[in-house]
Amino acid sequence: MGSSAQQHVLLFPFMAKGHTIPLLQFGRTLLNRHVAVTVVTTPANRPFIEESLAGTTASIVTIPFSSTAVPGVESTDKLPSMSLFYHFGMSTISMQPYFERVLEALPRVNFMVTDGFLWWTLQSANKFKIRRLAFNGMSSYCLSLCTVATVEGVFSGPQSMGELVELTQFPGIRMCKDDVEAELRDLDLRKVAHEFNTKLMETTMKSYGVVGNSFYEPEPAFVDYLNSNSLYKTWCLDPFCLAAQQPYREQDTKPRWIQWLDEKLEDKCSVLYVSFGSQPEVSHEQLEEIAFGLEESSVNFLWVITKKDWDLPEGLEERVKSKGMVVREWVDQREILMHESVRGFLSHCGWNSVLESVCAGVPILAWPLAADQHLNAKMVDEEIRVGVRVETSDGSLRGFVRREGLKKRVTELMEGAKGKEASKKVGEWACMARKAVEEGGSSWSSLGSLLQET
Ligand code: UDP
Ligand code: UDP
Repeated sequence: MGSSAQQHVLLFPFMAKGHTIPLLQFGRTLLNRHVAVTVVTTPANRPFIEESLAGTTASIVTIPFSSTAVPGVESTDKLPSMSLFYHFGMSTISMQPYFERVLEALPRVNFMVTDGFLWWTLQSANKFKIRRLAFNGMSSYCLSLCTVATVEGVFSGPQSMGELVELTQFPGIRMCKDDVEAELRDLDLRKVAHEFNTKLMETTMKSYGVVGNSFYEPEPAFVDYLNSNSLYKTWCLDPFCLAAQQPYREQDTKPRWIQWLDEKLEDKCSVLYVSFGSQPEVSHEQLEEIAFGLEESSVNFLWVITKKDWDLPEGLEERVKSKGMVVREWVDQREILMHESVRGFLSHCGWNSVLESVCAGVPILAWPLAADQHLNAKMVDEEIRVGVRVETSDGSLRGFVRREGLKKRVTELMEGAKGKEASKKVGEWACMARKAVEEGGSSWSSLGSLLQET
């Protein structure tokens, strides 16, 4: 480390909200530690990043990007279908020459943290002799279980989709094929998915290290596994969502959903917060069941809908007015989860949502839809025990959820014994998360070591 010169870190987030948000929060964490930060992004993503980093000294540099998946789309949440994800991911390599021009022009960079999905940035980093850490948007639990299940043949064995197999590496943990998405299970399934995943894994392993989007305490065995096998040298520096918490400014007008939550607090009514993340895909029939399930349930709910084409049943929003609010704007999810009225979170279990809920001490009703969400739900339910899963009509992991099943589990979470247990447990984790980022805590110290080393 240069003894007195200010350190400088370059961040390059992948263009999806769930990947960009935590890395920007990491940027704030670095700024708080007096490190200079440059963020590289594309023109259409700049406004969101500017707003997220408003009031800081971070520099933002844009480079052009033209995706072959859908021209003009620079963010996966703007893709018409997630089936285009891998083409989008592969086409990011077109940014490489522009990225290298940025590296040429920048003052000395101590290290860069670029998303694992931007695999080609390792090559650029090596060219300019800059250490590259890959940002892993998943939990270490998920990454190690996927690795172990592949090595131990869980995905290639003769068993059915739902049949559980105990892992030799992690006795007590049982996995089935249905725990992960088809593309991860069978790498030959789609050529482009295979190509993308292989590049992602190879370059992540060859990088200086991995910035794990988590803190050590909830997943020690899994972080240790990744480290001890020299697979991925993992630095747990999170939860960034806590470290970067912005103080509430008295002069700001509270968004109407926060005012609504305030009212519920006065009425001593607890609220279920509902969100399926920034890019969910569910059928029309399933969406109707969610809507009717919430309408018929006994609880108050705040439902944030991010998809413009999600139409709720006719008249429903009007009918539920006294107990439910539907919001179709971008919200500050952390602010909602931290609100005292919120006592439960019906979540798709995107990893950021899980972490944010844990940090806010809010138990989860897990309804995983895609990607790593099923393993996150498994962690929520079986490992850290901060929630329950929704009940599918056929008992399978990815089955249809009927309104009766949803109502039952909502009640269980908000009023039942299981919910009480999960509440107690999540409170303990929230406390540990706060300690991790405080001076002397595990994440605080790990970041200190990383800065010292580089
Ligand atoms: N988010 C938000 N406002 C919204 C919707 C989402 O702040 O209206 C944030 C949420 O807090 C989280 C991220 O977007 O940080 C979503 O990431 P996650 O991993 O939970 O799910 P994804 O969207 O990647 O499926
Ligand atoms: N935008 C775009 N392509 C992208 C990402 C964003 O054209 O890949 C445009 C988008 O249409 C919008 C603006 O950039 O006008 C801001 O997008 P953002 O995702 O920040 O917020 P939104 O307005 O979608 O909530």
